[in-house]
Amino acid sequence: MASGDRIDYVFKVVLIGDSAVGKSQILSRFARDEFSLDSKATIGVEFQTRTVLIEHKSVKAQIWDTAGQERYRAVTSAYYRGALGAMLVYDITKRQTFEHIPRWLEELRGHADKNLVIMLIGNKTDLEDDRAVPMEDAKEFAQKEGLFFLETSALQAVNVEMAFLTVLTEIFNIIN
Ligand code: GDP
Ligand code: MG
Repeated sequence: MASGDRIDYVFKVVLIGDSAVGKSQILSRFARDEFSLDSKATIGVEFQTRTVLIEHKSVKAQIWDTAGQERYRAVTSAYYRGALGAMLVYDITKRQTFEHIPRWLEELRGHADKNLVIMLIGNKTDLEDDRAVPMEDAKEFAQKEGLFFLETSALQAVNVEMAFLTVLTEIFNIIN
């Protein structure tokens, strides 16, 4: 979108989940349509933006990425402040990253807005042969907790767009 175009809304969305599940690559896929197989642990950059159209309104998604603060309770409350959406990410090939999801969810709910829209994301579906988390387990958990749920591959650009657009559209609908 050309600079100077009107922005109707800015929605802050945060990425959380264990280290190495693919948060930064999911963001880079959505914001710049890029992917890197040897991405370094995130440093510095606080957020990236992409503007999308929802019902003829321009919505700027401001998406925050943890700067290597994935240890328990290391993410500061400033990170969550003002967030309207959250992407809660695990790696489908690493059972432990899924087992930590309730903990992330608790932390998220302790900090964020009541109406927060949350998407549970099982990333790395391109590694199906190494799958350690059945889709049904995650689906069931998401249903129980009232979360949206999708499996993605940042590598193959599968469902990343869908995940963000679902969250942004839901936020849009709550606000309007
Ligand atoms: P973060 O610590 O959660 O931000 O994880 P990164 O985005 O840095 O990704 C960690 C590693 O997983 C990197 O080597 C990425 O290239 C790789 N990765 C991320 N997403 C995918 C994916 O969808 N498929 C595969 N095969 N690898 C991925
Ligand atoms: Mg990262």
